[in-house]
Formats: sequence, C-alpha cells, structure tokens
Amino acid sequence: MSGYVHETLEQFARATQAVIPCECCGHFLLSAENKNAAPAAYAMADSAWKRGAFGGASLEEIRVAMKGVLRKAYYLCPSCSPD
Ligand SMILES: [Zn+2]
Repeated sequence: MSGYVHETLEQFARATQAVIPCECCGHFLLSAENKNAAPAAYAMADSAWKRGAFGGASLEEIRVAMKGVLRKAYYLCPSCSPD
C-alpha cells in the first residue's frame, strides 16, 4: 500500500474523528471513544475509492488499510501519558 493511500486514509480517520491527535503533544494519533466514527471513516474511504482516488487498489485493500490506520491509534499517548 502506497504512502499516498495511507496518508489519505489517515486524513479520513481524522476528518471523521475516528482518530484524534493528542491534545498535549499533537504528535500521536489517539483512538476516539466514538463508535460512529469508524463506520464514517470507512464510508469516506469507500466513496473516495468509487471516485478512483486510490488508483488500482481494490476496495478490499482500502478497507484493510483503513483498519490498519484505526488499529494503529493509541488509547493513551505514549509520549504524554505516565505509565
Ligand atoms: Zn501526546
């Protein structure tokens, strides 16, 4: 999966607030406590794919990549949260 696809999907995840940048450092993406956000992020990815935004990638590949973006988000910021 190209960096372009990953970046675009990450933008969708941010736009739907499925992930949110850490309020403290703004660097790490945190998983939002919003159950409606992930389906909205997938829906954005689907419609972008239908527009041909991802070139030759299959819809399945796009969905798997989006899942990766959402899974990569942290629950607690590794930089700001004391452990
Ligand atoms: Zn932080």
